[in-house]
Amino acid sequence: MSAKRDYYDVLGVHRDADLAAIKKAYRALAMQHHPDRNPDNPQAEDLFKEASEAYMVLGDPEKRRRYDRLGHSAFENNGPGGFDPSDLGSVGEIFEGIFGEIFGGGRGRRGRKGADLTYDLSISFTEAALGAEKTISVARPTVCVRCAGRGAEPGTPTSPCPSCRGRGSVRVQRGFFFGERDCLTCHGTGVLIQQPCGKCSGTGSVTEDTPLNITVPPGVEHGAVRSVRGAGAVTGAGAGDLHVQLTVEDHPLFERDGSDIRCTIPVSFPEAVLGSTLEVPTLEGKVSMKLPPGSQSGRVFRLRGKGIPAYAGYGKGDQLVTVMVEVPSKVTKNQRKLIEELASEMGTETHPHQATFLGKLKSLFE
Ligand SMILES: [Zn+2]
Ligand SMILES: [Zn+2]
Repeated sequence: MSAKRDYYDVLGVHRDADLAAIKKAYRALAMQHHPDRNPDNPQAEDLFKEASEAYMVLGDPEKRRRYDRLGHSAFENNGPGGFDPSDLGSVGEIFEGIFGEIFGGGRGRRGRKGADLTYDLSISFTEAALGAEKTISVARPTVCVRCAGRGAEPGTPTSPCPSCRGRGSVRVQRGFFFGERDCLTCHGTGVLIQQPCGKCSGTGSVTEDTPLNITVPPGVEHGAVRSVRGAGAVTGAGAGDLHVQLTVEDHPLFERDGSDIRCTIPVSFPEAVLGSTLEVPTLEGKVSMKLPPGSQSGRVFRLRGKGIPAYAGYGKGDQLVTVMVEVPSKVTKNQRKLIEELASEMGTETHPHQATFLGKLKSLFE
């Protein structure tokens, strides 16, 4: 671990700053580096922790006196009042504990709204390309109607929890820090029940399968998430959100390339030589495509506007059709004879690429 910065430097205050100035400095730093404002930013998290640690010392007159006298060594032994960085806990705990106290009114457990839910939805390649309306069934925790979320069988008595005095949460100390956690006696409800509700077994919550319509926009990509506000778990304090993660299934013929679709169509040697009309599958059904005489294997044809609509904006991609000339892997005696005849008929003028290649090869070894 690198050398610890001076706590006064961390907060950017004078050594003789009064408590109000220290509090103000910490408030500004905590706002700036708060993890909620800096998601996935470990540097901000470190700065937030550092500032919180400095404040916990300088904001306490007794600890500040010890620090002024002895510096960081005042808290190096993990004896009584000692400082152990592992006691910091997660930033979230710091925030809910001390930070909540500074800014007034930490979140009580009982007032917490429902959790966010996730749902994995598989859609076909065509649904992803053209868009779709899907109905899903979400297992959604909801307030128990029978007991109105209180957990007690209607008509039976309840009493405030003696452990937390009905608050539902208790203060806990972690090193210097105070946080809140659910009361273990009443599981955060603040009340003791004598007879649990017959429907929810005393949890106050029941999970119900809830049908929900999801609009899949055209052009959506594999792994995209559609969020539906208020479609998550429900508590007395409100509902969380539902996040639907989309899985796009493979297509037997098509592959996606941005807003274009690629497919490969096998053609026979005579079709490639003489030309043909091919039936090509597209998202919106089959279309006819002219294969000109003398088409090489690997040639790509573009069907304009037969691709995927741009996800955000106008226009549509194309379909790119690659023709692959299929060489017979097995021939009959008669076919063999005819191909041999054909071969003797064909010279360099019918195979210009081969003639050029052989010419280059020859010059290379002469
Ligand atoms: Zn109930
Ligand atoms: Zn309790």
